[in-house]
Amino acid sequence: MIPVQKAIEIALAETSPIGTETVSIFDVNGFVLAQDVYSDIDIPPWDKSAMDGYAFKHSDVTDAPVELRVVGFIPAGVYPEVRVGKGEAAKIMTGAPVPEGADTIQMVEKTQSINKEKVKILEGVILGNHVAKKAEVLRSGEKVLTKGMLISPAVIGVLATVGKREVEIFRRPTVGILVTGDELVEVPQTPRAGQIRNSNGYVLFNQVRECRATPEWLGIAPDNLDQLSEKIAHGLTKDILLISGGVSMGDLDLVEDVFANLGVKVLYDKVDIKPGKPSVFGTGKDTLVFGLPGNPVSASTVFEVIAKPVLRKMMGFEQVHSPKLTAILSEDFRSKTKRANYAPAWVHYQQNSLIATPIASKGSADVLAFAKSNAYMVIPGHQMKIKKGQEVDVLLRDEFWRTCQQSMI
Ligand code: AMP
Ligand code: MG
Repeated sequence: MIPVQKAIEIALAETSPIGTETVSIFDVNGFVLAQDVYSDIDIPPWDKSAMDGYAFKHSDVTDAPVELRVVGFIPAGVYPEVRVGKGEAAKIMTGAPVPEGADTIQMVEKTQSINKEKVKILEGVILGNHVAKKAEVLRSGEKVLTKGMLISPAVIGVLATVGKREVEIFRRPTVGILVTGDELVEVPQTPRAGQIRNSNGYVLFNQVRECRATPEWLGIAPDNLDQLSEKIAHGLTKDILLISGGVSMGDLDLVEDVFANLGVKVLYDKVDIKPGKPSVFGTGKDTLVFGLPGNPVSASTVFEVIAKPVLRKMMGFEQVHSPKLTAILSEDFRSKTKRANYAPAWVHYQQNSLIATPIASKGSADVLAFAKSNAYMVIPGHQMKIKKGQEVDVLLRDEFWRTCQQSMI
């Protein structure tokens, strides 16, 4: 049995980005940029008005209020031909190029139009007021985005600005999801005696999706060598294969036998984690394989703790580890295991602190307790009791970040 951190290290050591693909900027949010990006233009391309107002020479308004002669109107989208001379002003709209001769803009609210030919500038302004200088944001030829950056909507704005309609990102891994067990039936069926519905497949499918990788449904494999081998062999055509069930000590836990037959090299098969001890990691020719425990909470937890950093690394993320934060425990908690305990908790934010409330759980099959949690309390194996008010490490799941958790539900 190996410590959780060691399991993560072993899996990450086998992982590298699997390549790149060129994708439209409509679809790249949340991925990692696989190329440097250079600007093809200056932004702004010329001195630009940041306000609707009047453009003039600064030296003309030092004694404001003053009247200036209006010599032109400059809307956005045209390059002005007018030249602003001494004692003159041009009406200008936001985003329009500042005309030759003008160096300063006063906003329309601080002016008074006398007639078509005359405007009164009511207040003086500093030199260059409301003029965005040519290339002050970005310069033609400049490297504006760097390989390895996370693509956000704001980054997509930069891509659009510099004329990139598509961009190279680290490729989305394909992740096969195979669930095993003679007892499993599909969701629409009413389980007969001895049967249960497959829930793991759906949980894992959506966890993979949350990582923005591409999940592929491989269905249910029964606990017999032939059919299991066939399904696993198919799974080995993917970048990652997740298998749930069949990896503990039961007579019909056959997954590791199939790995041996198919040349999957097993690098560990027990991890010091609760829930999730019977966890296998192996490498096929071009595939990383996770044998996850069958119990629903265990399978999902091992995915979150060990497989997720692997997916992130494959997708080009430099920071692959989920941050462990500190929360204050809201009630006494007893850890009933000597293994590293990932206990379901509800974490919320209160007066600048994170507060962790343990969720009472019947264990690794308690899908309901798990569904009520948005985080794990991570309790080291030696720590059996934690008192209310003490600090506890927490691993926040995406659910936490998706809603701003100010108080208990
Ligand atoms: P196993 O690891 O195959 O021994 O399975 C451990 C427990 O998890 C058993 O009670 C299984 O019935 C249950 N289990 C296995 N696969 C699934 C699944 N896909 N969905 C829900 N429960 C499962
Ligand atoms: Mg089984």
